[in-house]
Amino acid sequence: AKGQIIPPPAKYGGRHTVTLIPGDGIGPELLNHVKELFRFSCVPVDFEVVNVSSATEDDVNNAITAIRRNGVALKGNIETLHTLPASHKSRNNLLRTSLDLYANVMHCKSLPGVQTRHNNIDIMIIRENTEGEYSSLEHESVSGVVECLKIITRTNSLRIAEYAFKLAREKGRKRVTAVHKANIMKLGDGLFLQCCREVAAGYPDIAFDAMIVDNTTMQLVSKPQQFDVMVMPNLYGNVVSNVCAGLVGGPGLVPGANYGRDYAVFETATRNTGKSIADRNIANPTAMLLASCMMLDHLKLHDYATMIRNAVLTTMNETQLHTADIGGQGTTSEVVQAIMRHIQSKGPLTSEL
Ligand code: ADP
Ligand code: MG
Repeated sequence: AKGQIIPPPAKYGGRHTVTLIPGDGIGPELLNHVKELFRFSCVPVDFEVVNVSSATEDDVNNAITAIRRNGVALKGNIETLHTLPASHKSRNNLLRTSLDLYANVMHCKSLPGVQTRHNNIDIMIIRENTEGEYSSLEHESVSGVVECLKIITRTNSLRIAEYAFKLAREKGRKRVTAVHKANIMKLGDGLFLQCCREVAAGYPDIAFDAMIVDNTTMQLVSKPQQFDVMVMPNLYGNVVSNVCAGLVGGPGLVPGANYGRDYAVFETATRNTGKSIADRNIANPTAMLLASCMMLDHLKLHDYATMIRNAVLTTMNETQLHTADIGGQGTTSEVVQAIMRHIQSKGPLTSEL
């Protein structure tokens, strides 16, 4: 057996090494655009590419090792076929649980230039990312009867609630809403809700309320502006984040982050594979580009993050460049080229403090 390997520091001469997992579908092409844009913008980040396929577990273990070494990753989604046996764990899920990336964070904000039914949406969704319905604990106890376990723990509910309130305070937010179904899952969601209440007591400056998940989805599609910060267990988080992505223009627009105590992994908020639109130069690059900006902020490369984010958002105003998902005829590479032109027009960043 090999001795214990002490991971090297992630920074050399001010440069950061980030693990890049291309994933499947539109992942590889979108991440190529990120690489291209970073090179163009002289961002001091080097990528270590790790390919993960669904086939063997070795790949995902290599990716996990690489993230442990680098601390940070940017990824495309790895396809999980539902025809696989129950014992097969989603590689994406395995990665999040192995690295204990307990907080999924998505900031859903109306974008300039994108026509949507509702405007002025500004919601932060904090989703428990390691347990709940995603525990992969299913069995057929007797023929025709399946038990599928949802795990809610006090420890993980407290820490996600704490994360949500802390973030709310940091970002100057006013209210946190816990989403649940404690009327039916009295013990499981009841515990989650109870933990949120306990944490809320320590944040008198931030209002707290709770909303049942079915009402939440109805309220979201009718009056989304009422929400500020939302915190919820894993599966509700999955559903609610997709509703919210739809509200601001779709899955091609919104970035997402997975944070743990030690590591952070960035991807698109709704984690789509986009297989049917892959390799056709039609995918919307916005969500992945904004995910790369979240990553730069995490690395404290704020000037680079701001520069790229501003260029992405300014380009969104050029309606003729919109990709098909938001009603245009523009291609992925046309959007990226316009972003680069915008960056060039602003001149190079000369200092990064
Ligand atoms: P999943 O793999 O999670 O089932 P899909 O890949 O099927 O999700 O994506 C859901 C829908 O969103 C599809 O119609 C897909 O084409 C669309 N979509 C996802 N990402 C993008 C993107 N970046 N640009 C344009 N459309 C996208
Ligand atoms: Mg699909």
